[in-house]
Amino acid sequence: MIVRLRAHHLLCILTYRGKGYSPAFVRTMSRVVARLSRGARVGIVAGPDDICRGLRGGRARHCVRPSARRRDRLAAADLRRAGEAVRCGRSIGRLGNRRLAAWRAGFAAGRTRRACAACPWASLCDATAEAGFAEAFLDRRKRGRVASPTGVEPVSSA
Ligand code: SF4
Repeated sequence: MIVRLRAHHLLCILTYRGKGYSPAFVRTMSRVVARLSRGARVGIVAGPDDICRGLRGGRARHCVRPSARRRDRLAAADLRRAGEAVRCGRSIGRLGNRRLAAWRAGFAAGRTRRACAACPWASLCDATAEAGFAEAFLDRRKRGRVASPTGVEPVSSA
């Protein structure tokens, strides 16, 4: 079981708490996060991934914009600096809680936030990090039993 993720979504999954662009997106994102919580391995891809499928099947303009690819490059570089082998076409394995805790510490400290510059969701992600990620869905201890997603906050771009 492999979840295909583009690099900047490795950051977005840390703060995800059931809010997204549309009900379809939230359903897709919640399914992906539940699979990761159950121990799915992660494969890094270039461009639209399993999360992007929730936005017009991955064909939304948002998913192919140069800004999204720039976020991928920045997130991959920041995570590589933190010791993760984030490269397209490679698997990075499972996201255990120890690994997630290290990623979240780096995120909260701003060490892996370059990809977040100008993202319209940044204030939500800031608040989630400041609250210690307590409301974040991704948690191996929950084994995919995430709260029912309801929050939809459409924004124009990210
Ligand atoms: S600020 Fe944007 S890019 Fe950064 S983690 Fe949040 S949703 Fe993802």
